[in-house]
Amino acid sequence: MNKKKTVLDPFGTTVVEDYERLYEEFGIQPLNPLLGRIPNPSMYMRRNVVFGHRDLERLLDAMKKREPFAVMSGIKPTGEFHLGTLMTAREVIYFQQQGAMAFYCIADVEAYEDNKIPFEKSEKYAASNVADLLALGFDPKRGYVYQQYKEQRVKDLAIIFGRGATLATMKAIYGERHIGLYLSALVQAGDILMPQLQDFGGPKPTVVPVGIDQDPHMRFTRDLANKFRRKYNFMLPSSTLHKIMKGLDGSPKMSKRNPMGYFTLHEKPEAISKKISNAFTGGKPTVAEQRKVGGIPEICPIYELCMYQFVDDDRKIVESYHECKNGSLLCGEHKKRTIETVLDFVKEHKRKHKKFVDKAREILKIS
Ligand code: SF4
Repeated sequence: MNKKKTVLDPFGTTVVEDYERLYEEFGIQPLNPLLGRIPNPSMYMRRNVVFGHRDLERLLDAMKKREPFAVMSGIKPTGEFHLGTLMTAREVIYFQQQGAMAFYCIADVEAYEDNKIPFEKSEKYAASNVADLLALGFDPKRGYVYQQYKEQRVKDLAIIFGRGATLATMKAIYGERHIGLYLSALVQAGDILMPQLQDFGGPKPTVVPVGIDQDPHMRFTRDLANKFRRKYNFMLPSSTLHKIMKGLDGSPKMSKRNPMGYFTLHEKPEAISKKISNAFTGGKPTVAEQRKVGGIPEICPIYELCMYQFVDDDRKIVESYHECKNGSLLCGEHKKRTIETVLDFVKEHKRKHKKFVDKAREILKIS
């Protein structure tokens, strides 16, 4: 039977039924064979949350030879930091700690075009988002944080790249959208390739850590890098691709459209607690049945929450997987434990965030 092709839509909803299929469907490389070559692989890499990549070898070679390399990613400032943006920020920080020149973009053009958020409003979120980034360990002395709307080099690249894309190409990659979204895709290509401009030391391997739903931007940008290679001598940008977190309510993707399915790092503890308590699980309808046949961690958002974000120790993750499978761990107990872990993290994070708000405003030059 012919299976339906996966649709990756950075501006809409992406549902992935089988990550293995994406290797063939989109020419993505699996990350696992590279693990032995990656110095200090991150938690996401070790756990196959980062499951794929494009051309990461280029970056690993540069790391080994101690040549310059960069990491670039960012956030759409449409609200407070949530678990998806937490993942990308940690990946940027990981590569920065491995020696990358780090670029972090506030994608306010996309927030305007995709979410109709006026720039005055997105600027308020941006300051808080950057304070989150700093609280997580981003080093501003070895990084560049900027707003798309104010970064002339990014806008210049977008204008130039416009000549490299036809309407037919945009429709084929992004579907039929308003022109503003096509424009924001060109601006994103500018973000991804800006680290290779002479102002930042010229062409260099650059990795972009993103969720798999953002892969169309990478394909588009790699195509533009090729087209404008003669003018700028660009290297094709690399990417690492992570899986999409399920919603706490069991929906295939955590989404702002569904407030009970996700939480931000700035929500009240009671609200976070309630959302985790009410979350869908892979447990059985009765305690007796679960004790007898075990649960299904593979479909469980609580297991995912711990594995993707909140439990650092790999052994604890393996332990909870087996305990769930053999019925010795029950969902009530697991949720209680998870709430404690999450609330401890959030409390500490908020404390650090508060300290960094002024610094964030200074970085973004917001008065
Ligand atoms: S025991 Fe934990 S991992 Fe297993 S189904 Fe329940 S909440 Fe999920």
